Amino acid sequence: MRKLEFRAFICLFAAAVLFLGLLVFIWQFVSHGSDWATFYANKHIYSDGKLAVGNIYDVNGNVLEKNENGKITFNDDYWVRRGTVHAVGDRRGNIGTSAEQAFQSDIVGYNLLTGTYSMTGNGRDIKLTIDAEVSKVAAQALGDRSGLVGVYNYETGDIVCMVSGPNFDPADPPEFDPDDSSGMYLNKILSGRLIPGSIFKVVTSAAAIENLENLDSFSYYCGGSTIVAGEVLRDFAPHGQVDFHGALTHSCNGAFGKLAREIGPGKMKEYVDKLGLTKSYDIDGIRSVPGSFEFPENSEFNLSWAGIGQYNDQVNPLSMLVYMGAIAGGGQAAMPRLLYSPLRTPKMTDQMIRPETATELTEMMKETVTQSYGEDKFPGLDLYGKTGTAEITGHGNNGWFTGFIKDPGKPYAFIVCIENGGLGITDAVPIANTVMQAVVSR
Ligand SMILES: [Zn+2]
Repeated sequence: MRKLEFRAFICLFAAAVLFLGLLVFIWQFVSHGSDWATFYANKHIYSDGKLAVGNIYDVNGNVLEKNENGKITFNDDYWVRRGTVHAVGDRRGNIGTSAEQAFQSDIVGYNLLTGTYSMTGNGRDIKLTIDAEVSKVAAQALGDRSGLVGVYNYETGDIVCMVSGPNFDPADPPEFDPDDSSGMYLNKILSGRLIPGSIFKVVTSAAAIENLENLDSFSYYCGGSTIVAGEVLRDFAPHGQVDFHGALTHSCNGAFGKLAREIGPGKMKEYVDKLGLTKSYDIDGIRSVPGSFEFPENSEFNLSWAGIGQYNDQVNPLSMLVYMGAIAGGGQAAMPRLLYSPLRTPKMTDQMIRPETATELTEMMKETVTQSYGEDKFPGLDLYGKTGTAEITGHGNNGWFTGFIKDPGKPYAFIVCIENGGLGITDAVPIANTVMQAVVSR
């Protein structure tokens, strides 16, 4: 009898182990099944190490990448290919944040019931929010320069264009060099961190509006440079007497250094967090890189430069683009997204700034356009913006222009940067106009 009891116990124990194992397997299958299915060794999906099923289209249904009988083709247009290579991928897996990498299981057509089986044998089609025509115009405008052009719809979150330079033609790619340092495989909109220079003054301005009393009576005399804690804080020109709005329209370093010191390091830090600049955005599963900033407690001079967008400020372009959307949208904007569906409900960011702050910043960015750049640079557009020319020790400048348009039915924010010798007003501004003209006429 004892022997029987012992055997029964062994049996039950074995059954319990089996049951537990089954549970673990089901859990693994449900949570990792798509990874297994798209595993590199699955020969029927990959041909020659490249993904060989599924098609990627732009928002208007134009082919960006197509698979026919294992043969990969791209859009017919050379500049569309160069303008979308970072968003789409190069089919060799060199661009980690590309749609083909991130949406591999969608493209391959994996689902829990049928695995990677697809009725047509061709995988699934995915449609991106990217506009091929706008990307083409942006890529042509950027040419062979280093930099970036980003546009997104701040009401829906749809990313219209993500052009990063240097780029290349995925249909005729350069020889892969594992030590490549050109940055051609990096999508700078998502993965770049750059010194912002004066576009950061729109950040310091938000903190000033919400934290400084008597900002209406703020006054600063700019003689071209000023001494802060024994060191010279340089300006581009003597701006004379400026008030708070005048400080932004003239992009006065001296005035913004003073504002940053009055706001203080704690509040400056609080605002870069609140405005999403130190956040990693989740774009349908693709993560953007967070920016980083330092506001020293023990150096008034470095704190001043940090409030001007220099010192150790490193901005991620996508986060700046979303912040621009939040100014346009009364303090919050739609979360950026890359997979297109007309049925998707936009997801909104937190309220970054108060609606009245957004209204005042909108006014200030319009004044900057009319008084410093000239509205004739943007014919027909209701455009708001701020330029920047960031100085980089040992390198050329970064020329920036960021902002948004409020044309009826056209809620788009933009960011442009030309690296290695670019100037905001002469290099980035004309590119932004060219691209935004293409955006409104699409
Ligand atoms: Zn000044």
